[in-house]
Amino acid sequence: MKTILITGASRGIGREIAINLAKEGYKVIANYNKSEKEALKLQKELQSEGFSIEIYKADVSKTEEIKQMVEYVLNKYKNIDVLINNAGISDTKLFTDITEEDWDKMINTNLKSAFFASQSVASNMIHNKNGCIINISSVYGMVGGACEVHYSVSKAGIDGLTKALAKELGPSNIRVNSIAPGAINTDMNKNLTKEDIEELKKETPLGRMGETKDIYKCVKWLIEDEYTTGQVISPNGGWVIV
Ligand code: NAP
Repeated sequence: MKTILITGASRGIGREIAINLAKEGYKVIANYNKSEKEALKLQKELQSEGFSIEIYKADVSKTEEIKQMVEYVLNKYKNIDVLINNAGISDTKLFTDITEEDWDKMINTNLKSAFFASQSVASNMIHNKNGCIINISSVYGMVGGACEVHYSVSKAGIDGLTKALAKELGPSNIRVNSIAPGAINTDMNKNLTKEDIEELKKETPLGRMGETKDIYKCVKWLIEDEYTTGQVISPNGGWVIV
């Protein structure tokens, strides 16, 4: 069975993906950083249902911690077949208020992490002539979001990484794609008011916010697919159509 490393899997979208892939029988290594309690709960819940998952603490904004995590996984499992760069943060601020510190935190967590995690697994995937990298970006990477300029830049950067890497690694049979979700019902959107959510629904042709399972379904399809690479696929209910 394939070995899958997913970053930021203690909560939200990553958690949903990790649970479902573990239930499908994949060997899943679920990274977390601050939410140890949630990560342990996820592991316990799966174990109580007869499934297994490994959890691993690393701050993906720190390249050294990514490298140690990948080394640990490769030593233990020999291969990483699928890397899912999901860990991310958001921040809402006026452009003129964004500090260099805000920028560094955003770029290091959302973009640098995906770059160096991909680089860390690449040699193993190239050697195997097989691999799948899935980067979780955002609709804001495609169309930009006011008051989320640094977040939008980080996600546009992810899509650039996806496209360039797909070209470079395609000849080694490694597929690289982005999933760019619309608004998904997770902690990341807990600051939205009831009115905001109603407005969002009105603007969305399919009439609802996304759920984490909508993103899992897309991930599952990309893992199984064999001919899609360099693409930005956007499950967003039609909220953004480009
Ligand atoms: P979430 O519920 O806030 O969860 C974020 C996850 O990322 C947590 O598991 C968190 O782990 C992890 N994380 C954050 N910083 C980390 C770090 N330095 N090292 C390791 N893990 C870290 O957010 P979400 O909605 O599931 O978002 C997941 C991804 O989808 C993000 O990349 C986000 O940008 C993207 N996305 C979300 C939406 C949306 O509407 N929700 C839309 C478009 C794109 P700990 O708590 O353990 O630190």
